[in-house]
Amino acid sequence: MVPESLVIVVSGPGGVGKGTIVDLLVERDPRLWLSRSWTTRERRDGEAADAYIFTDGPSFESRISDGGFLEWTEFLGNYYGTPTPDTSSLSGRDLVLEIELDGARQVKEQHPDAVLIFVLPPSREEQERRLRGRGDPNDKVFARLRKAEMEEPVGMSIADHVVVNDDLSSTVDQMMAIIESERSR
Ligand code: 5GP
Repeated sequence: MVPESLVIVVSGPGGVGKGTIVDLLVERDPRLWLSRSWTTRERRDGEAADAYIFTDGPSFESRISDGGFLEWTEFLGNYYGTPTPDTSSLSGRDLVLEIELDGARQVKEQHPDAVLIFVLPPSREEQERRLRGRGDPNDKVFARLRKAEMEEPVGMSIADHVVVNDDLSSTVDQMMAIIESERSR
């Protein structure tokens, strides 16, 4: 990784709003560079074609064998992974990863200086409402809620910062303030 670039890991349970938050962060600050993940999950109805690099199992596995991921995991039956960043395209910007907890842990192990911001939902009810709102089927909603129950205590214990996403714009303000203070350290 480029020594002067920060690695900012945004993690937290499904339905907490991580995707919206990181989109707003990179819109607000051109010094942030958002990594695009690979996944074997099917694209959701209405999901942007460039939300991920949508791929199949064999292609994902062959990239694993080639050492082409900074981190990867299996999440509820699909692969997700961060391609090893091309440091030349970073050109001094700070790298932002929006990933689940297992991946966040892997990145922290490899890069102890990475800044892990763990985002929590204001309540389980609100998280469920958000998951349903994006069209996840019932079984997926329940699986994600169960996973959140298990992962939140772990996430909070390894995070450098914990933010509750109650009001989106104040969450983004808080995260920008965290990033600015990490830059000046
Ligand atoms: P979704 O299917 O809702 O888009 O994503 C499921 C989970 O995978 C989310 O928590 C999301 O943050 C996480 N995720 C997305 N990309 C990656 C990645 O490259 N690596 C890891 N470890 N998790 C990812």
